[in-house]
Amino acid sequence: MVRMTHRVTLIPGDGIGPELAEATRRVLDASGIAFEWEVVEAGEAVIAEHGTPLPDHVLDSIRRNRVALKGPITTPVGEGFRSVNVTLRQALDLYANVRPARSIPGLASRYQDVDLVIVRENTEDLYAGIEHRVGRDAAESIKIITREASERIARYAFDYAVANGRRKVTAVHKANIMKLSDGLFLESCRTIAAGYEGRIEFEDRIVDNMCMQLVQKPDLYDVLVLPNLYGDIVSDLAAGLVGGLGVAPGANIGTHAAVFEPVHGSAPKYAGQNKANPAAMILSGALMLRHLGHPEEAGRVEAALRDVVAEGRTITYDLGGTAGTSEFAEAIVARLTAAPVPAS
Ligand code: NAD
Repeated sequence: MVRMTHRVTLIPGDGIGPELAEATRRVLDASGIAFEWEVVEAGEAVIAEHGTPLPDHVLDSIRRNRVALKGPITTPVGEGFRSVNVTLRQALDLYANVRPARSIPGLASRYQDVDLVIVRENTEDLYAGIEHRVGRDAAESIKIITREASERIARYAFDYAVANGRRKVTAVHKANIMKLSDGLFLESCRTIAAGYEGRIEFEDRIVDNMCMQLVQKPDLYDVLVLPNLYGDIVSDLAAGLVGGLGVAPGANIGTHAAVFEPVHGSAPKYAGQNKANPAAMILSGALMLRHLGHPEEAGRVEAALRDVVAEGRTITYDLGGTAGTSEFAEAIVARLTAAPVPAS
């Protein structure tokens, strides 16, 4: 049987990124799917050579391959270059940031049965980058919300719910205070929800109440759709419910390209120590497998990872173990290669 080779852009990133990228590559290469990795560098390390943390050839590579796997990239706080992550999402119009938060059996966390999917609008809101100083002692950030982007993300959330057998979409907002901007987001969600009536349930929550509800009774929720900033914050909260940032994967989806990356950042204090948890990036790789049309292999990677976590012998410090990044990945590879490859 001849299977196609997928050519994928691999951006190792900063801090712990390169170690996690290597671990993820090893696992995906053992998934039964053939990859040709086009490795391109972005982030702090390339600024001296290219004068920017996001050189054009990185964007060109993603545009050409249409799929990328990316490690975290450092964004210095305050002055300096604009976030590579935000720029990349905007340049490629990766409008949907999808972040599943699902409990892993055997992993000590606050809840055992969380199964949430955060669908975050990825192109506008306060991340539009329109900021200015007003004199010496004040500054303004402009929050952009459009009907077009809001309806597009709401449609994505409902289509995701239909395609993945989910039952409900909850729109999250602060329309009681930001009546125009968040009001438009909510109105757009309601418009789109009407087209799915009878198939997918719809409700809305104010973001502060949503945070409290998620901490107290996450099982009441299913797919959440949020503007950019609330989506960023609530997805970290959701990650905390299922074992932390070390196990939280993400996907940035656009019409012409998709970039898969963990929710967490570059954790500089652990860089180069073979210590960080590769699970979030490996699970992002599983999301990528699914996106490329290989749900069975994606399921095998997820199952192998879950088995290694449940067994508890080869897990990283954040999950309560003492294994290194590469040992954790090798334990997953061993499970994948021991299991019979399914016929397809
Ligand atoms: P962070 O996610 O790097 O770290 C937060 C905490 O989680 C730290 O204690 C860290 O050690 C721990 N942690 C994160 N990932 C881990 C892993 N895989 N295994 C074990 N522990 C892990 O967040 P931060 O410190 O706020 O940000 C560091 C840098 O990363 C900043 O420059 C930030 O802008 C950047 N960042 C990038 C992305 C991205 O590339 N998409 C996302 C978030 C933050």
